[in-house]
Amino acid sequence: MAAHSDPDSVTMKQPSPGAAGPPESLEALIAGLQARGYRMTTPRRLVLEVLFQPAEHAHYSCSAVTQALQERGVSLDAVTVYRILQWLKDVDVVAQTDLGEGYDVYSLVARRHHHLICLKCRQTIEVDDAIFDPLREVLLKQYDFLPRLDHFAIFGLCARCREAEAPGES
Ligand SMILES: [Zn+2]
Ligand SMILES: [Zn+2]
Repeated sequence: MAAHSDPDSVTMKQPSPGAAGPPESLEALIAGLQARGYRMTTPRRLVLEVLFQPAEHAHYSCSAVTQALQERGVSLDAVTVYRILQWLKDVDVVAQTDLGEGYDVYSLVARRHHHLICLKCRQTIEVDDAIFDPLREVLLKQYDFLPRLDHFAIFGLCARCREAEAPGES
């Protein structure tokens, strides 16, 4: 009975850069999911509560979510948490990203942001979502493909490490 998994109009979602993103509050998000025909079970809600808890954007691995739930006295096993996270990814609520740590992390699409990660010193620079708008446009226009660039990790070399690599120059 749950989802009319009719590909609900994803295309409506990003009319223009930076404009009215996904809902910011937990309740608004839950209401939105229910309006789309999804059932909000207690475990689903609990996982969402964990993800929404930090004011800033945060990254959670599956085991970090499981642990945060445990700290709240909720015992959901990791497999259940994993399934819920995958579901949240399918319904476009979280992004799943490998930030180079050897495991995937989940973050809220509602707090969309991206990272530049230095391969040498692991320094991370956060970048604004707007820089991907031209790429979104090209992919849509030239490839008729609507990308989900929700939480990007771009690996490379920071200025300091590039300098250290080429000491002779300048
Ligand atoms: Zn992030
Ligand atoms: Zn570096």
